[in-house]
Amino acid sequence: EAKQTHRGSYVLFNEDHGNQIDRQFRLERALKLSIESDELLCYFQPQYDCNSERIVGFETLARWKNAEFGMIPPSQFIPMAEKSGFIKELGRHVMECTFAFAKSMEGRGLTVSFNASPMELLEVNYIDYLISRYRFYGLSPNSIAIEITESSLMESLEKITSKLQILKKQGIQIYLDDFGTGFSSLTYLKTLPIDAIKIDKSFIDEIVTKDVEKDIVLMIVGLARRLNMEVIAEGVETEEQLNCVTRAGCHLIQGYFISRPICQSEVLPLLGQPKKQTGGVFASETD
Ligand code: C2E
Ligand code: MG
Ligand code: MG
Ligand code: MG
Repeated sequence: EAKQTHRGSYVLFNEDHGNQIDRQFRLERALKLSIESDELLCYFQPQYDCNSERIVGFETLARWKNAEFGMIPPSQFIPMAEKSGFIKELGRHVMECTFAFAKSMEGRGLTVSFNASPMELLEVNYIDYLISRYRFYGLSPNSIAIEITESSLMESLEKITSKLQILKKQGIQIYLDDFGTGFSSLTYLKTLPIDAIKIDKSFIDEIVTKDVEKDIVLMIVGLARRLNMEVIAEGVETEEQLNCVTRAGCHLIQGYFISRPICQSEVLPLLGQPKKQTGGVFASETD
């Protein structure tokens, strides 16, 4: 009933509305069982420093592979989890994976980041829970970063600011994710304790051909420098894009050109490689 088109994405065909609702219902039920049935995995995507020519960090990304439905992309199951409230368990699972992974990588000077949904961030016990797990693992300063999106900030800037300041005091870094796609943003930059801005992939997509995108990236880099923040370019897929981005002054890169998200067993072999291989992909994501 579902047909795979390309990597990880599905379209429905020949199904009436009723069937789709039924599918949605079964999907939601399956998602709630995904952690206990070991279907919800964490992959890690490298963040690469073009100056030192080293991998300096990883972003944890959730993956859901279900026997009946196949590979479901986060763009589908994260909103579902947010709607049903399952995001709380999902988020804690991903946090645990992140801390365990960072602990296993200790001493390599890496920063492992993970995404927090607005809903989680606003939950009363979230910060306390995060800090207690962080301490449980005994992680060193700057080994963990939390990625937040602009949309999570719109609701209550004051509340979020004080929460993030608590995290910062613990040595946890704050990344502003998907920068430029929300309702900008300059207020957030001056108010929040942000360590790094992640430039959204949509700006990188056309950076080679469009001057506007180039100018926007230049502006973000300049602004970040003034504010003492790092910049990470997200979604760099080609060597041309990499060149444009580094020429604009951004040397931290995350994208398929460096590597797709990989599973934990693929990480050490990758770190063992001394330099980025030209021609793109280090390792491919296994579905
Ligand atoms: P994000 O946090 O902006 O993550 C980056 C997304 O871009 C990831 O997609 C990653 O696989 C993809 N990506 C990275 N480099 C490239 C590239 O060169 N080309 C292309 N085409 N894509 C690239 P993914 O894993 O599908 O995640 C999508 C979104 O789902 C994430 O966007 C994040 O907002 C959300 N998400 C994923 N895992 C979690 C999680 O554990 N918790 C929460 N709350 N959200 C998550
Ligand atoms: Mg992210
Ligand atoms: Mg992002
Ligand atoms: Mg994104």
